[in-house]
Amino acid sequence: MTDNLYLSTLQEFDKTIRHLHLKAGIIAYLRSPKRELTVNFPVEMDDGSVRLFTGYRVHHTTALGPTKGGIRYHPSVTLDEVRALAMRMTWKCAVVGLPYGGAKGGVICDPKTLSIRELENLTRRYATEIAILMNPQGDIPAPDMGTGEREMAWIMDTYSMHHGYSVPAVVTGKPLAIGGSLGRAEATGRGVVLTTLEALKQTNIPVEGARVVLQGFGKVGAPAAYLIEEHGAKVIAVSDESGGVYSAHGLNTRDLLAYAKTQGTVVGYPGTESISNADLFALPCEVLMPCALASQITAANASRVQAKIIAEGANGPLTPEADEILLERGVFIIPDILCNAGGVTVSYFEWVQDLQSFFWGEEEINERLRQILVRSFQHVLHMAQEKHVDLRTAAQILAIQRVAEAMQIRGIYP
Ligand code: NAD
Repeated sequence: MTDNLYLSTLQEFDKTIRHLHLKAGIIAYLRSPKRELTVNFPVEMDDGSVRLFTGYRVHHTTALGPTKGGIRYHPSVTLDEVRALAMRMTWKCAVVGLPYGGAKGGVICDPKTLSIRELENLTRRYATEIAILMNPQGDIPAPDMGTGEREMAWIMDTYSMHHGYSVPAVVTGKPLAIGGSLGRAEATGRGVVLTTLEALKQTNIPVEGARVVLQGFGKVGAPAAYLIEEHGAKVIAVSDESGGVYSAHGLNTRDLLAYAKTQGTVVGYPGTESISNADLFALPCEVLMPCALASQITAANASRVQAKIIAEGANGPLTPEADEILLERGVFIIPDILCNAGGVTVSYFEWVQDLQSFFWGEEEINERLRQILVRSFQHVLHMAQEKHVDLRTAAQILAIQRVAEAMQIRGIYP
């Protein structure tokens, strides 16, 4: 079983590389992270005690430009997970044509158990610790699980204080008031929906009335839910880490979001039946959107999945074994590096706007995002048809080709 995300990321890479004619040295270079930083740092807690935290920042490659990737706060963060996510960020940026390499960061912590002051201390200290790697020309972090606008504002402010002037372009996913971008908050979910709409067209399933099931109702899952509902689909089940809710008639997901904001969970939403995360995957539906953690669908539960389309809002929600089982059954899987690339695409727009101090309107942002994702979806589809491979392999072939080409053109220094 490959529940370790780093092993499955390498396994996917090895599977893809067989379709490319690259030199062994380039393959070895592409397969390894360029640099890895581990930081152990103290934080003063509210009760006066001092607690040591461990964090990471990994850059996978810089062949195409500065590195880009989120910062995760979660108790299960490991260096291997951060390595895997950094590598996936490289392929994600390359598949949608962004001038970035991949990075990722993380701190082992449970943000829910920390006060706001403790979280601020942790974030500012972590930002200072990784400042040897982070800058607007070299490495630009963004939110991931457990972090959001607030943490990005603290990081921007910390970096700016050290430099003596404001540097909004050092981080994306910031609040609008300090150089954030319109459309960023919904961008990943919007991308999940845009690619799902393309997949529905490909599989001749009408969006009107299509049943959608979502795991995870956070920054990715919640906008994906209400945006697909706006297209006429019926979101029948949603879950978060506390459990799930189900309604055969469809949920009003904007109302559910308002409920979850006040209650801290979707559980108990009036007029619904409760459902476990395990049973949620087995619901008959047209679209399943795993938008929470990695390795959620494995060899153990893949055979229970009844969805016709899986839209990978989360990074690596399927293990390679589950992927194989579902592909064999003809399930249309939109791979994570394409499906959830909307977030980094609008992060790129935010960075460009910050560097130019010139801001765009929301319609323009959403339209540019749509064009990039629809075009990338078509490129991946054509590659899959040309090479007779699944979409995940096709997306990776496109991405790896682009990065490898940049490496070869640049040459090996010295
Ligand atoms: P988030 O912290 O905002 O939300 C995560 C959601 O998943 C929450 O609703 C949480 O309750 C739920 N969850 C956690 N553990 C769960 C479990 N065991 N079972 C069911 N639900 C569970 O995080 P997010 O930013 O929405 O990220 C979700 C996924 O999307 C991650 O894999 C992340 O790497 C990926 N992603 C995020 C972005 C982004 O822009 N935020 C972009 C691309 C990919």
